[in-house]
Amino acid sequence: MKTKFEVANTRLELLRYPPKQQHESLQAWDAADEYIIEYLQAEENDLNRPLSECNILLLNDNFGALACALSSFKASSYSDSKVAAKGLLHNWQANFANTPLPQIMHSLQDVTSAYDLAIMKLPKSNDFLVELLIHLRGIMPSGTLLISAGKANQISKNTLSLFEKHLGETKTSLAKKKSRLIFTRVDKTLSSQSKFPKTWAVEDSGIHMVNHANTFANSQLDIGARLMLQHLPDITNRNVVDLGCGNGVLGAHLLSGNPRNLHFVDESYMALQSAKATVASLSQVHAEVFYHHSNCLEDADLPNISHIVCNPPFHQQNTITDHIAWQMFADSYHCLEKGGELRVVGNRHLDYHHKMKRLFGGFKIVASNKKFVVISSSKR
Ligand code: SAM
Repeated sequence: MKTKFEVANTRLELLRYPPKQQHESLQAWDAADEYIIEYLQAEENDLNRPLSECNILLLNDNFGALACALSSFKASSYSDSKVAAKGLLHNWQANFANTPLPQIMHSLQDVTSAYDLAIMKLPKSNDFLVELLIHLRGIMPSGTLLISAGKANQISKNTLSLFEKHLGETKTSLAKKKSRLIFTRVDKTLSSQSKFPKTWAVEDSGIHMVNHANTFANSQLDIGARLMLQHLPDITNRNVVDLGCGNGVLGAHLLSGNPRNLHFVDESYMALQSAKATVASLSQVHAEVFYHHSNCLEDADLPNISHIVCNPPFHQQNTITDHIAWQMFADSYHCLEKGGELRVVGNRHLDYHHKMKRLFGGFKIVASNKKFVVISSSKR
């Protein structure tokens, strides 16, 4: 992995999180991060006041590259992701061991400080982008500048119209290393409203899924989850985990099988809050239910688990990767009691059964259709 971040006057050593499992071609920052730092350090930038006088809000800083590059300024970080928070912590400690950490806030947290500059990496989902823009309009004074950055091919006319509609007047920079900056001034007279949290019903069960903006499958059932729902394990009186729970669709259905405990785990704060609201909307829940904001299972202390169900992600932000699935399966192996089962649904081409065979020593195919397969492995 390339780890030396050298831009303008900034020199840092940065790792993706978790550092061990990353593909060597990946790095903890991208050209959009570099563009932001170069812009802020340039003399002819458009800030109304010196950076040293700004109270800065950073949004979606993937592994803390921006927070570290702005370490000598007053900046707070705001993100939906546990992995991003851990990446920032890790990189901050590696570069500034004796300096107090910047404030790290999770999405849905009330932001009470007044900020006079916001800097955002574009999120993958437009629903989440709109949610953030509406939120910023609520908490930032009129005329405050938001600088957003992303890959040029991620920034269409439609994207820019979202900035105009939900935050204020918007212009863009030229592209540099295939990245662009977007400059928006907060216009408090705009009046668009958030559509989230939003609810939809799973056809066959009638269970209502509650979804915050940055939640996977936030308006309909994922087709992999649909297959898994037809092949859930028998979990009566067992201790069960819904790993990478999203809105909690798998766990919410498992609850009708009367487990003893059900643990929802996700690295997205909005996903966990969605799962919590989904469970709150169920008419009867006999199990004890717990929620863990965790990178895979590493931040969750889970004893005597007999079943884990999982529909693993194959992206980390905009990068396609299988390292999260690997960690989810390896962590599952450690958490399961002897005889305990990991049941996974995935696209056929992802070949999860090879990984499960390597970790568990075997697997069985529970169900399959043209695109998806449900695979089970037990701890021997
Ligand atoms: N279980 C839900 C379903 O079937 O609709 C969501 C499945 S979605 C394919 C994968 C989920 O894994 C997302 O909710 C995502 O936030 C979560 N996730 C991604 N990376 C993770 C990580 N490192 N640790 C825990 N959860 C993660």
